[in-house]
Amino acid sequence: MVLPLLFVPAHLVTALANWNPVAWPPLLFETMAAFIACAACAWRASRSRGRARQGWLAVAAAMLCWMAGVGCQFVGSLTPAGTSGTGAISMLLFVLYGVPLAFVLASPGADPWRARLVDGALALVLGALFGAYIFSFVALAGTDDAGALTLAWTFDIQNGFIALFALVRFRASSIERERRLFGALTGYALAYMAVAGFYNHFVDDGVYGVLASPLVGLPFLLLAALALRGAGLARAPQSGRMFERVVVAGCPLILPSALLIVSAALVPHMPILAIAGCVIATLGYGLRAVLVQIHGIGEREELAQLSQIDPLTGLPNRRQFDEALRRELTRARRSGQGVALLMIDIDHFKLLNDTLGHRVGDDRLRAVAAALQGCAVRASDLVARYGGEEFAAILPGASPTEALIVAETMRATIEELELASPAPDGLVTVSIGAARISDIETDTEQRLVERADRALYDSKRAGRNRVTAAWPVEEPTRALG
Ligand code: GH3
Ligand code: MG
Ligand code: MG
Repeated sequence: MVLPLLFVPAHLVTALANWNPVAWPPLLFETMAAFIACAACAWRASRSRGRARQGWLAVAAAMLCWMAGVGCQFVGSLTPAGTSGTGAISMLLFVLYGVPLAFVLASPGADPWRARLVDGALALVLGALFGAYIFSFVALAGTDDAGALTLAWTFDIQNGFIALFALVRFRASSIERERRLFGALTGYALAYMAVAGFYNHFVDDGVYGVLASPLVGLPFLLLAALALRGAGLARAPQSGRMFERVVVAGCPLILPSALLIVSAALVPHMPILAIAGCVIATLGYGLRAVLVQIHGIGEREELAQLSQIDPLTGLPNRRQFDEALRRELTRARRSGQGVALLMIDIDHFKLLNDTLGHRVGDDRLRAVAAALQGCAVRASDLVARYGGEEFAAILPGASPTEALIVAETMRATIEELELASPAPDGLVTVSIGAARISDIETDTEQRLVERADRALYDSKRAGRNRVTAAWPVEEPTRALG
């Protein structure tokens, strides 16, 4: 805080002492102001993560370009006029300064990196064409008053757009770290627009210019202050969700549109370059749209898969089970083939959980799930986590004997895992109820599940660790275990 307060008076004193705004001391101070802003943004980047970090780095890069631009003028002021060629380089650096800012404002951070790479390329092309426009223009207009005025207006428009987009991104963002970045950028961009506009339109060389020179450093010092201590910006009121969605979705239009506008301005001076700009804007926008879409399709597929899988065991979840059972019953009605359903429940699991803890309970659930899965050998069989410590297996086309064989294999496999449990026989075991479609025309999923559940209940009542069939079998009270 003390530094900026000392900085401005020091700038003013040295400017006055030299009576010339394009002499080296004011330029040195302007370079230093940009350096302070650059260092503050880089420091903030080192303290940030993810998108905000990239954003701060981009702003630091913009400050570096501006600093180098004034630095060139500073070097130029030390060498005899017209001998160093620093004027053109500094103009190029001032144009380049807009590239990272355009990128950070126009590229939504949440987009996939490939799309952001396209944004970066578009921002670079935009910078190059904007530079070409400025140079063609300066070369044509020379240094006459009309030329200088148009140049000033061109920079006004550039600065105005940067300030406007920074403000829109700031108002739209709901992420705290991004709000801080865009808030600081808005403060800076508004101050820069005002100072640059004032300087370019109203200040000429002489005493007035000398007095105005310290103004140039102010936006940079403001940016440095906001980067270092702008936490309050994140708490500023935010516009609605809909506005945020519109802004995020509309951002990718900024760079191609700006490129089209600059290309249109280039038509009279460099028609080939103008056409190239239009083609790049169109193709770039199309390419990024395709990349975002590919990413979206991948994400949707992943989400659809996740919504069907139980995260603990990796088995199909209840939703997938319900869909599969519905599908299999429809198929059974068409093909006339039966469907068997097994309901499988771990015995005394509450006791296990209460005694050994939830974490061990989870481990047991995973082990049982994997073992059950291993017992369903046919490709069409589906083992799912039905809920809690209950599993279900759909066995399409299984005869009563085949269904009982699978059920018994499952029961025996779990017992043979020899997983320790506080249950009476010291091991993790399962009880199973089996049911089959009885009447293909009238049976429903719900009735099938109810019958399997009742058979499971019978297994529990009969002493657990056994299989019970819901259909009449040769030995009615059979416990295959
Ligand atoms: P029974 O032999 O009659 O089936 O008795 P039980 O104790 O297994 O049956 P109950 O339905 O009373 O207990 C089920 C327990 O399963 C209760 C709950 O704490 C536990 N449980 C449900 N889901 C999870 C889970 O995801 N992880 C763990 N660790 N425990 C679970
Ligand atoms: Mg149980
Ligand atoms: Mg249960």
